[in-house]
Amino acid sequence: MPRHEVDLTVIGAGPSGLYAAYYAGFRGLKVALLDSLPEPGGQVSALYPEKMIYDVAGFPAVRGQELIDRLVEQAAPYDPTYLLNQRAEDLEKQEDGSFLVRTHKDEEVHTRSVLITGGIGTFTPRPLPDGDAFEGRGLVYFVPKLDVMQDKDVLIVGGGDSAFDWALNLEDIARSITIIHRRDRFRAHEDSVRRVQESTVELKTFTEVAQIHGDEEVEGVTIFNNKTDERETLKVQGVVAALGFKSDLGPLKSWDIEIDGRNVVVDTRMETNVEGVFAAGDITEYEGKVRLISVGFGESATAVNNAAVYIDPDAKVFPGHSSG
Ligand SMILES: Cc1cc2nc3c(=O)[nH]c(=O)nc-3n(C[C@H](O)[C@H](O)[C@H](O)COP(=O)(O)OP(=O)(O)OC[C@H]3O[C@@H](n4cnc5c(N)ncnc54)[C@H](O)[C@@H]3O)c2cc1C
Repeated sequence: MPRHEVDLTVIGAGPSGLYAAYYAGFRGLKVALLDSLPEPGGQVSALYPEKMIYDVAGFPAVRGQELIDRLVEQAAPYDPTYLLNQRAEDLEKQEDGSFLVRTHKDEEVHTRSVLITGGIGTFTPRPLPDGDAFEGRGLVYFVPKLDVMQDKDVLIVGGGDSAFDWALNLEDIARSITIIHRRDRFRAHEDSVRRVQESTVELKTFTEVAQIHGDEEVEGVTIFNNKTDERETLKVQGVVAALGFKSDLGPLKSWDIEIDGRNVVVDTRMETNVEGVFAAGDITEYEGKVRLISVGFGESATAVNNAAVYIDPDAKVFPGHSSG
């Protein structure tokens, strides 16, 4: 069973966790960064990698995945250990004040402090009924790289922001795009709905998937109108099921950490009720909390600097300036 020895274990490799990995390196701490997803980037990479973000300090506009790539690059000189595809399952405090973190794949991290940057928890896409057989063979739940849909006829299922954003982003890449939604009301931003209605994307309401066809890969989808039961089969090679994600705090609930609803309660040092366990980013809760990337960055800096003092009580909270 692989075992890692580090100063700080960061649970969650979203923007807050990645920035924490940089900051911990800057403070001279050895870091392990865990995530249940196969790639770093949290909500940004999983839900909106191609969207532009306008409210991150220093970037007037930045594409979601580019921000993540820059964060990975910023942490890289300190060589954090990435444990991806690994859900943190157990957290045990040891008698000497250090911790043992165990993942669902039975890897163990012995760590002197812990920072939880778990966002909205581990999230998994809401499945398309009977879609299992085609997952990864033309059916995707999010589109990490737009060019996987190059020159394909694409069916997008859903009525939220993701469905409409994928349609707009893929319009010049795919050969054709059809969006189907089971109702005639959309959760997507009004402006995106208007832009889709004015685009070449075909929009069908009160329409659902009846069956996906294909041998090895998706070759077509039979859809039906849920009011008239009228059916038709579309020839498509790509299906994007944008039905939303289920998120779950999962194992965190059993870690003796004070939880408020779906969030972790922290003090002004970003420390939880368990000494040595800190939290930052979307997962934290306190009065006036705002869930934004920029807020997570600040909280991560506060958490890591205070974790440095937990690890070495002679260390200073203020790290000094990074400018060289
Ligand atoms: C469509 C959309 C658009 C947005 N636009 C903006 C915007 O323009 N500007 C802005 O500031 N914010 C925006 N946000 C919000 C922003 O994405 C979040 O504030 C940000 O992602 C929070 O970062 P985080 O690192 O705290 O958490 P997350 O990004 O949620 O990352 C948490 C990570 O922790 C992992 N994790 C959780 N539990 C475990 C566990 N037990 N073991 C291992 N891994 C675990 C998850 O898999 C996930 O990868 C948007 C959100 C959405 C959904």
